[in-house]
Amino acid sequence: MGNELYFDNSATTRISEEALKTYLSVSREEYGNPSSLHGMGRDAEAVLKEARKTIAKTVGDTAGGTVLFTSGGTEANNLAILGRAHAKPRFKGKTILTSAGEHASVKMPLAALEKEGFRIVEIPTVGGRLDPDAIARFATPDVILASVMLVNNETGALYDLPAVAAALRRSCPDAILHVDATQAYLKAPFSVKSLGCHLLTLSSHKIEGPKGTGALWIDPGVIRNRGLAPILYGGGQEGGLRSGTEDPPAAAAFAKAASVGFSSLSERIERLTALRARLFDRLANDPGLAGVRVNLPPVFAPHIVSLTLPKIKSETMLHALSARGVYVSSGSACSSHGKHGTSALSAFGLSDAAADATIRVSFSHRNTPEQVDLFADALSEEIGRLARFK
Ligand code: PMP
Repeated sequence: MGNELYFDNSATTRISEEALKTYLSVSREEYGNPSSLHGMGRDAEAVLKEARKTIAKTVGDTAGGTVLFTSGGTEANNLAILGRAHAKPRFKGKTILTSAGEHASVKMPLAALEKEGFRIVEIPTVGGRLDPDAIARFATPDVILASVMLVNNETGALYDLPAVAAALRRSCPDAILHVDATQAYLKAPFSVKSLGCHLLTLSSHKIEGPKGTGALWIDPGVIRNRGLAPILYGGGQEGGLRSGTEDPPAAAAFAKAASVGFSSLSERIERLTALRARLFDRLANDPGLAGVRVNLPPVFAPHIVSLTLPKIKSETMLHALSARGVYVSSGSACSSHGKHGTSALSAFGLSDAAADATIRVSFSHRNTPEQVDLFADALSEEIGRLARFK
């Protein structure tokens, strides 16, 4: 380890030293069960409380919302969607809005709800942008929930969530807006207020925190109206919404990574933007990269670049690069297990074959311009070598 060229930071990141130190220290010192009534329990509870406060600050919560810890983005998305659909607030409707490019952890619970009789309506993401006419048309009074991601994990497209929030306020004011911010968090500036959302999904391992932890931010109105039902039942932790003994070391380490990232957000974005520009410069000027097409959304977060290769399967390229210690992913790391991950790419007009020849490069603020050059060299050489085999 150490010499790898790791450009798969949207799949996961290496935990930061600060987060790791926090994890170890809380594991050693505050190891009580937060539900225990004695002093050790209270100490662990205090760690959780502090972590919640920190995370709330990084999403610009000034309304006193709840930060509920989960096992990651997947669970937070499931809780938001299934929890809202199965809650019994005053307002009952059967329509749920979403976008065409969502992650499987949003698509699959929605597919389950469709089987229960809910109507799922997808806003197209043509060219990497939510279709504004469709937003207005689909925001009908029957909508109870809209679940739309902020940054797409395959293309980096940054969607216009405030437009979705405004349409909901106009046509279905009782609807809840859930935003999966897994890929946007600490890569693009936003707040729960600027998005106008009621539920927000975060994942720790994408921001240099530990794996297997995440959070759902919940607007106070949702709690007041009993707008969310649990998906896990048991000891009633997390206000009864997520039973199971909490994980204070992971929550504290997640919060540490979040606060470090939040305090240096503008520098991080600058670095990511420069890395992206360097790669684009190489793509424009290296003859070996001339056949590579960038799937460029009109508005984007700076850390994800989607590249369609000239008739080379992404899997072939991925293995060729991996053999050289260069790591990227094919389209999206999560969708590589299944076939439900190509919609964000088909919205760019890519055929199935072109989507199959698409790789995702995702930067960390820790990557250097020199690493981008080495990556571009490796990609260029492998395109030449693999083309000779055909
Ligand atoms: N949403 C998006 C957009 C993602 O990219 C991912 C992870 N690939 C998830 C949700 C799931 O997050 P986790 O890995 O923490 O379950």
